[in-house]
Amino acid sequence: MADTELLARRLQCIREELQSASGGRYPAPKLIAVTKTHPAEEILPLHGLGISEIGENRVQEIMEKRAGLERKFQIHLIGRLQSNKVKYIIEDVCLIHSLDRLSLAAEIDRQAHRAGRIMPVLVQVSPAGEEQKGGMPPEEVIPFLEKVREMDGLSVRGLMAVMPLSQDEAYLNGLFADMRSLFERVRDTALDGISMEELSMGMSGDYKLAAKNGATMVRIGSALLGQRNYR
Ligand SMILES: *Cc1c(COP(=O)(O)O)cnc(C)c1O
Repeated sequence: MADTELLARRLQCIREELQSASGGRYPAPKLIAVTKTHPAEEILPLHGLGISEIGENRVQEIMEKRAGLERKFQIHLIGRLQSNKVKYIIEDVCLIHSLDRLSLAAEIDRQAHRAGRIMPVLVQVSPAGEEQKGGMPPEEVIPFLEKVREMDGLSVRGLMAVMPLSQDEAYLNGLFADMRSLFERVRDTALDGISMEELSMGMSGDYKLAAKNGATMVRIGSALLGQRNYR
């Protein structure tokens, strides 16, 4: 990973871009630093740069790294989650971004009760119909929420999306705008027991478009930390 000075410069640049992209219409989104593939000793210096929230996409990796992170960060689980692994991270993560099916909701509910906490979650949506990457079709969100709101071990806080890989800015911009409208529509529906405060969208390749369309959280890995592959 890059040295601290380079990290500080990248971070400054990303923050300025987020600020100006969202400028006027929306507040700048919160930055979640995606630290998957990076070992704990490389993540620790981020704390000194003002980053307190990190994103990880694998349960196994969180379990391996958590001791080394010295409780300095809040961990967001951003990747696909298998129901049978919920129990391993229920006490370690501050927000699960990838709730996309009822069976997973039921298991989060069950494990949260066991752990004596209420687990904050986002519902993952697939705006481009790429459900193999996780996420439900937009039209299923409200019926899903109507079932999930009965579960008192979890607390829905908003929506999350992963956009398709595409260089077509107009296409991506349209998908981000669709997500923002869905988010506002669900919020205005005001379902009892469901809050719609967070819209998690935007990664290294598209965070400016996401900010422009009212993301409240962006998840940025490689643009901040550089590329690193799993061994
Ligand atoms: C890896 C990952 C990111 C960050 O990706 P970058 O392109 O490196 O910024 C964001 N969200 C999810 C779900 C990811 O798995």
